[in-house]
Formats: sequence, C-alpha cells, structure tokens
Amino acid sequence: MNRRKFLKTSLYSLGGVAAATVGSTVFTPLVCRETMCFDPNTSFWALAHSPETPSLSENVRVDMAIIGGGLTGLFAAYHFAGRFPQMKIILLEARQVGHGASGTNGGMILPQTPNESFEISDDEDTHKYVYEITTRAIRELQALVMAEGNGCDLILDGFLHTVRKEEDLDYYEEYVEKANRLGLPLEFLTDKETADEIGTNAYYASVYDPNGGQVHPMKLIHLLKRAVLKKGVTIFENSPVFSIEEGKTVHLTVGKQQYQVKADNIILATDAYTSKLGYFKNGIIPIHSQCAITKPISKEKLSQAGWKSRLPYFDSWNKLFHLILTPDNRICIGGGDAEYFFNNGIHYHGDLNRVAGLLAKELARIYPVFSDIGFESVWNGMLGMTADGEPSVGVAGRHQNIYYALAYNGQGIAMTYLFGKIMADIFKGKKSIWENSPFYCHPIPFVPPEPLRWIGANFALSYYRYLDQK
Ligand SMILES: Cc1cc2nc3c(=O)[nH]c(=O)nc-3n(C[C@H](O)[C@H](O)[C@H](O)COP(=O)(O)OP(=O)(O)OC[C@H]3O[C@@H](n4cnc5c(N)ncnc54)[C@H](O)[C@@H]3O)c2cc1C
Repeated sequence: MNRRKFLKTSLYSLGGVAAATVGSTVFTPLVCRETMCFDPNTSFWALAHSPETPSLSENVRVDMAIIGGGLTGLFAAYHFAGRFPQMKIILLEARQVGHGASGTNGGMILPQTPNESFEISDDEDTHKYVYEITTRAIRELQALVMAEGNGCDLILDGFLHTVRKEEDLDYYEEYVEKANRLGLPLEFLTDKETADEIGTNAYYASVYDPNGGQVHPMKLIHLLKRAVLKKGVTIFENSPVFSIEEGKTVHLTVGKQQYQVKADNIILATDAYTSKLGYFKNGIIPIHSQCAITKPISKEKLSQAGWKSRLPYFDSWNKLFHLILTPDNRICIGGGDAEYFFNNGIHYHGDLNRVAGLLAKELARIYPVFSDIGFESVWNGMLGMTADGEPSVGVAGRHQNIYYALAYNGQGIAMTYLFGKIMADIFKGKKSIWENSPFYCHPIPFVPPEPLRWIGANFALSYYRYLDQK
C-alpha cells in the first residue's frame, strides 16, 4: 500500500512526463516473448481455499476475454455478466484467482484514489467527486457481498489515518476543516482520542473516516468467484496468456499448449503484471510490498493493548505502515518498505526475514505489549505503480476493443469495483458518464527505460525512507 508522492519525484526528474502511453502507439499487435514468472501466493489469506476451476484445454471463440483473476477481473466479470447476460465471457488466470495483489494485500477498504487520499488539492470539485463516487462504490460492494451471504469478514465501521510527525499536525487539521467544508464526514482526533480508539500513544493525532473498513482479501475473492460462476462466466485457472494480437477480433495464445482464444473484446486486468504482456511497458512499474500476520492474540493480551474500536489504520509516512485486527484477533501489518527489481521484475528476490524484522520492530513500537508475539506468516505482494500515482480505466486500440483498468498505486480494493462498473458503462456506450472523471483514460506518464528506471525507482525509495526517518 505504499503510494502517494512515492516514485514521482525521481522518475519525473529522470524522464520527464513524456507523451501519454495510452493510444494507438502502444496498442499495436504484439507477441510477447518475455518469460513470465508467477511466484506462488504464499500469503496467510491464501490458506482460505476454494476448488480450482480447470485450465483452458481447447481453442475458443468468445465475446469477452478477461485477462487476470484478481479483483479487477472478477468485478469486471460480475458487472459485464450482470448487465450483458447474452455475452459469452471467459476469465483467464495465470495461476489461481487472487494470485496477485488482490490475494496478498493488507485488507483495508479505503475511499478515494491514492492521489486524493488526505491530500489538500486545489481542485475541490474533483476532490469531492472522487470521495463521493468511491464511497458509493464501497456501499455497492457491501450490497453485493451481503447479497452473496457475506462470509468474507467485511466490516465497514470506518478507519483511521494516523499522524506520525508532530510537524504534520497543522496540515491534517487544515485538511479536515477543508474536507468538512466540502461535506466529507471526517473527524480530527487528538493524540488522546486516537489512543482511546486504538490503544497506542505512538501517534500525534489521527483522522477518522467513517467510509471504509476491512475485509479478508481471499474470502472476498472466493465470494466473487462463486458469484461470477453463477452468472455464467467461465473461469480458467492455470491459464496464462502469453501473447495478444490485436484486431477486430483479438487473438490470444494461452498456456504451454498454445490454445487460441478469439475474442471480440478483451480486458487487461493484470495491474502490476501488465508490462509483461507488452502493454504500458514504460508506465506501470511493479513495486514489491510485504505484509505479516500474527497468531490469534488472547483476549487478555488484546485488552492490555487497548485496541478497543478495532478500527483498521494506516500512518502518514510516505512508505506507510498499515494495520488491521482480524475478527479472530490476529494483527496483519504491512508496508514500511518496498522494493523494485530490474526490468519491471515480477519475481521477488528480496529477504522476507529482513522484512519480518522491520514489521516486528514497528509492531513493538506501536504496541510494546506485542513485542514478543512473532508472526505466523510473512509474504510479498506486488503493486502497479505509476509516476503520477493516478489509476486509469478506459478502452483503446484501433478497434476500441482493448479495455483496461489498472495502476491502482496500492489502493485498489474499492477502485476495482468502480472500474469494473465503468468498463461496463463504456461498453454500453455510456462513456459520457465518466469522461470528466480524473481516471477515465488517464494518460499514464512515461517512465524511462533501464537502467535509468532502476536508478530512479531505487532513488525514490531511498529518498522517501530518508524523509520518513529524518
Ligand atoms: C502488500 C499489498 C498491500 C495492499 N494493501 C491494500 C489495502 O490495504 N487496501 C487497498 O485498497 N489496496 C491494497 N493493495 C492494492 C490492491 O491489492 C490492488 O490494487 C488490487 O488488488 C489490484 O487488483 P487487480 O485485480 O487489478 O490486480 P491483481 O490482484 O494483481 O490481479 C492480477 C491478476 O492477473 C494475473 N495475471 C497476470 N498476468 C497474466 C497473464 N499473462 N495471463 C493470465 N493472468 C495473468 C495474475 O496472476 C493476477 O492474479 C495492496 C497491495 C499489496 C501488494
């Protein structure tokens, strides 16, 4: 969930914001020759299993092929199948649904985009609009989950954004005043009020937002999988797409057996992996970020800490930490560091023991009573980051049949629901509803190629570590 100004400074300064990469220049026929590697999902959430669906085992012709079985792919499938029941829709997932960020994330449901999140922007109308549509998306997501019988530990009692530096207090007080004037229902909590909610004196203050909460990421994935299967979507797991050839009919090559899919339309729902398919190669950067989870904590020990409200929270560092308390009293903590590997590397080469140490140190700083608690599981996940931190949804290609929804910059759970809906609206010919939104076909800024990219990304990561710790 590392985000905000993150990569901006150094990537911009290295490459400048060159021409938008969305457009006919990028969307040309292509055959991807890059080897794709899909590390297994080793997250604690992935222990929540559901039966696998078979892989693709023949050539098929369909109306819509969705590439990627994360939240973007599943929500898109849900919206398309609900609104266009006559369409033949398939979803192709390289490994299992929830294999990517959607099954490895920190479980916080947040309104807004990363750029608008607690940022004072001059464009007040946009700020209000983004807050309203993302909070509406969260309520609709909740209605969907309830209609499917919940079972994914969805709790929407709000969340806190905690302030780590005393010098930031004025900024946040001012932000809340401005947000209130715009009608955003936020509340500024002092250090004592914050401690009353989450049982720690580690923060100078916090902002309470009633619109948000938490979920068990993989249980949400399985709920959606069941829901879209019921709606008639066919899901093929263990079916990586290796090449895409554009045209009026899009040709996909799938799996080692090279089965052919002919589709009238496709959706790129591959976020951080997208460059490996040849798209947004110089725009979407895979950044690796990690989480860890404790064993269930006894009620006695939990009451010693005093996390009474059970509200999830994330702090105000650039390389922020985020925490949730699960219904079975485990703490899931994530963030605090992030890594970039050469050439948009999607294989994790880092050291999870080092990460576990960092997360344990932070947990002990916030809650000294948990200093000896240890983690049951530590895992890596991947965020699709861009130089300007803005997500993008739209349609492109000479035949306007390549849909995409990506670049969530680490804040994607609510946005994926919204983007699924927006793609269905565009397909229906109602793009005018969204044309003025900041993320509709938002041009993804150019990021320079290697080795400048590696240098820029690592400079940015070090710079933000320095800013956070000074
Ligand atoms: C550690 C971490 C913590 C996070 N915490 C939060 C949080 O607390 N709150 C929040 O809102 N967001 C959070 N996020 C971000 C959020 O999880 C993502 O923005 C969101 O899940 C993106 O969903 P997606 O479906 O677009 O991408 P993904 O979930 O990454 O799905 C992409 C899928 O595409 C598949 N795929 C890739 N290439 C191919 C191919 N060639 N063929 C077939 N399939 C392919 C992958 O296997 C993968 O399953 C976090 C992310 C991480 C990594």
